[in-house]
Amino acid sequence: MTREQALQEAVEAAEAGKRLAASAERAAHGGGDPQRYAVAGGVWADTARAYTALAAVLPVLRPASQPECAVCGVTDINLVRAAAAGWRLVLGRPACAFCAGRFPDWTCRQF
Ligand SMILES: [Zn+2]
Repeated sequence: MTREQALQEAVEAAEAGKRLAASAERAAHGGGDPQRYAVAGGVWADTARAYTALAAVLPVLRPASQPECAVCGVTDINLVRAAAAGWRLVLGRPACAFCAGRFPDWTCRQF
């Protein structure tokens, strides 16, 4: 599960809890039994908190299109920008302009 998925689950659980809280309030005003809605709403609220806590510890995933230098780990926004900034493929792996400059020309090619 990614952080984004956990946050989406948290949002949906919070919305379910909100709907049940509204149902409990209507039941209370309409002479019904608000207790069962309130209990279910509480469970959804707990679920939302659990997913929020999970999202807080999950890593933010880097988009697959974002190149990462195989030598120093620096990233660029996308391949087009990286190519314009002097990134090269060094022995087939992406390297930023600084790192690529430390390798002999025959190991580098443009991408
Ligand atoms: Zn680098």
